[in-house]
Amino acid sequence: MSLVGMDDNFQQMLKCDVNSVRNNLMDICATQWHTNLSNFPKLRTYGTFKSTYSTETYIKLNLKRRERSVLAQFRCGILPLRLETGRFVGEPEYQQICRMCDSGNVENELHFLVECQFYNGLRNQLFSGLSVTVLNLNNSEKLNILLSEYSRKTARYLEQSLTKRRQHLYLNN
Ligand SMILES: [Zn+2]
Repeated sequence: MSLVGMDDNFQQMLKCDVNSVRNNLMDICATQWHTNLSNFPKLRTYGTFKSTYSTETYIKLNLKRRERSVLAQFRCGILPLRLETGRFVGEPEYQQICRMCDSGNVENELHFLVECQFYNGLRNQLFSGLSVTVLNLNNSEKLNILLSEYSRKTARYLEQSLTKRRQHLYLNN
């Protein structure tokens, strides 16, 4: 009871409102979750778009197995991009440059989803039908809205771009 700030109810044997206990527990979980999130550098991209503690809408979408998987990996920052594999072998971030384009940018989630010119064709499909307001957002805002409002399109983009990336690396190595 002290965890949820209801010591008095216990001491004085008062009834407690189940809803307030539940709300208090949710608050504690959410706070804990935010604290944990900020302690994991690997989840830094995740932290920028996942700001509330709740079930993601994409879980409820009827996505293909592979699409759901790449979307989940992307959100958790474990998609096998240069940034991820580079960290695994201990490369410093500045060496984790995208090999798909000549931008010289680090191949992180943002670059992969909304910047890298190598995927322009697939990205045109991703952006087709989106409002001018969305198209005028800056890249991080675009990433946020794609993940929150257009999970299905984004999942398809990620799946196809990863395949394109894999084929390119296969042919050029
Ligand atoms: Zn690139």
